[in-house]
Amino acid sequence: MKAKKSILLLLLIAALLTGCLLNKVTGRKQLSLIQESELQLMATNQYHTFLSEHEVLNPGRSKNAEMVDRVGARISSAITKYYQSQGKGSVLEGYDWEFNTIESKDINAWCMPGGKVVVYTGLLSVTQNETALAIVVGHEIAHAIAKHGSERMSQGMMQQLGGMALQVAISQKPTETQNLFLQSYAIGSQVGALLPWSRQQETEADQYGLIFAAMAGYDPREAIPFWQRMTDLGGGSPPEFLSTHPSDETRLRKLKQFMPEALKYYNQSN
Ligand SMILES: [Zn+2]
Repeated sequence: MKAKKSILLLLLIAALLTGCLLNKVTGRKQLSLIQESELQLMATNQYHTFLSEHEVLNPGRSKNAEMVDRVGARISSAITKYYQSQGKGSVLEGYDWEFNTIESKDINAWCMPGGKVVVYTGLLSVTQNETALAIVVGHEIAHAIAKHGSERMSQGMMQQLGGMALQVAISQKPTETQNLFLQSYAIGSQVGALLPWSRQQETEADQYGLIFAAMAGYDPREAIPFWQRMTDLGGGSPPEFLSTHPSDETRLRKLKQFMPEALKYYNQSN
């Protein structure tokens, strides 16, 4: 047992030395043991499985789904234009955006690598308007393109699967690998304990999410009342979204710090 632990430790150190990549969005070094293309492939499979198990609303018949589609189209095209103009088109390599709305009382939304987004109708009772929805969608997309899920998945592969390669893990330990994936991307509660995003990941997602919504022409100032409403829902049994995106005064303070920069993008968008 002891030998196994020290081997794991050695593997972890080796991974830390060789498996860190500079993130092009945030400029931060992150543990990255899995190819983005492999993750996107897994995401596409998981996304379609998820959709087949839930009631997906048709944007032609549901005003809510139509709104989610519109927010998604505006934000994804603004982000694509922005990174192309910065010569960083590779940030979105392999992205094939999809936005879907599912009928669910749960207050939740997420984005898988490759741009696979789901909004739960329960969230719309808290967003209350299209601009606040854009704030959340921007935040979730920021988690994906800042590769936060990939970072968590890499850590999990080391800790739970002994640094096994993803393709090997998928074939040898499919259930564990799938659960790790869902946990890493904060998807669903059926896999047990929900993993909250780290404070640093939350701050990054807020910072870039505000900018993404602003670039798409949505007023970033709407983030403050939205997160206030979300924070007020805390307590005994907070919604899923709040357990993975813990919120308090620190978040509101940081959002206010990021506001002047986001407003520059907002003013340019009009
Ligand atoms: Zn978050």
